[in-house]
Amino acid sequence: MQSIDKFNFAGKKAFVRVDFNVPLDENFKITDDTRMRAALPTLKKIIGDGGSVIIGSHLGRPKGVADKFSLKHILGHLSELLGVDVQFANDCIGEEAALKAAALQAGEALLLENLRFYAEEEGKPRGLAEDASDEEKKAAKKALKEKQKDFAKTLASYADCYVNDAFGTAHRAHASTAIMADYFDADHKMFGYLMEKEVKAVEKVMKDIARPFTAIMGGSKVSSKIEIIENLLGKVDNLIITGGMTYTFTKAQGGKIGNSIVENDKLDLALDLMKKAKENNVNLVLAVDAKIADSFSNDAKTDFAKVSEIPDGWEGLDIGPETEKIYAEVIKNSKTILWNGPTGVFEFENFTHGSRSVGEAIVEATKNGAFSLVGGGDSVACVNKFGMADKVSYVSTGGGALLEAIEGKTLPGIAAVEGLPY
Ligand code: AMP
Repeated sequence: MQSIDKFNFAGKKAFVRVDFNVPLDENFKITDDTRMRAALPTLKKIIGDGGSVIIGSHLGRPKGVADKFSLKHILGHLSELLGVDVQFANDCIGEEAALKAAALQAGEALLLENLRFYAEEEGKPRGLAEDASDEEKKAAKKALKEKQKDFAKTLASYADCYVNDAFGTAHRAHASTAIMADYFDADHKMFGYLMEKEVKAVEKVMKDIARPFTAIMGGSKVSSKIEIIENLLGKVDNLIITGGMTYTFTKAQGGKIGNSIVENDKLDLALDLMKKAKENNVNLVLAVDAKIADSFSNDAKTDFAKVSEIPDGWEGLDIGPETEKIYAEVIKNSKTILWNGPTGVFEFENFTHGSRSVGEAIVEATKNGAFSLVGGGDSVACVNKFGMADKVSYVSTGGGALLEAIEGKTLPGIAAVEGLPY
């Protein structure tokens, strides 16, 4: 596999798949340009070398061509960030795109229109009748697969090399995120800088692990995290399961959880995960006390209780002080830390204390040499809210992609560049 740092882009055209799926307000103004900034090192390196870039991205989830999802809305800001007057192709394939790509000179940049205006990008058939039979759906999917290859080949034909810098979509086998890599040899496809950083961070928690390794999994439901928890049970030394998931474990062990959030159909699963943790010599750490509330509201009356003795009419919305101490002790003694999901309803100011204390312990461990990776929308929101983003080792930009990587799945966007099956 080629490395972006070693590759000299002088005189070369590079197709760069980025994730410019940025939030826009009703006037199409970008409200958070983090994703655009994240791709700048890659784009600047290519331009700085004397290459030119053809930039491909998706925006939103269009079901066809829709002005609302046009990437023209971000063109001005991209030009500003890049310091180059970026050109625009009103269609990501077709004559205009081909001509503009062919005419690109050293140091120039071309942004293609939203790749998802074509069903070929995702490979999901559109416009099928609601009552379409399974046979019809299958046939439509097969027909689209063929067209998807042509679409990928056309995109590939614009460039001499392919750079994937879109970690946020690395878990998708789409035309521009994976399939088009097949049209470049190993010396002409590579990760961008952002992708490289993400891949290295994931490797540090999945392969190249300094011990003790502690994972903190929070959030509301066990059901959405089963595969991750099962995979982590084969890897970690300590597993802190926290947030709303706590109460499914407490109830499964016969505790009284009042009105706390619970998945009654996952009680056996909780016991099974506890058994598996024991078999794998994993120290499973659960909360012992909770900050409880008499309603699901920031202004609710609050108190503290043991997690197994929550009175009726009350619910646990964060961890309590005893639990904070237990978690902090485990975290501070760790050399590798993965944090996904809050300890409580951190959206309510009065229930952020537990998540903040976890963040503080991670920051301290990081200062003492631990590698800490924070990922998944809510924990990223937490570290940003607490001003800790630059005090942990790495904050991942990929929600779904990171979670699938932690589940142990192969990410097509990564495998395709590495020339591996996906
Ligand atoms: P998830 O989307 O599964 O990662 O869960 C994140 C959500 O879990 C956040 O919106 C939190 O508000 C919520 N959450 C965390 N702890 C609790 C709790 N004790 N009760 C209800 N919701 C919770």
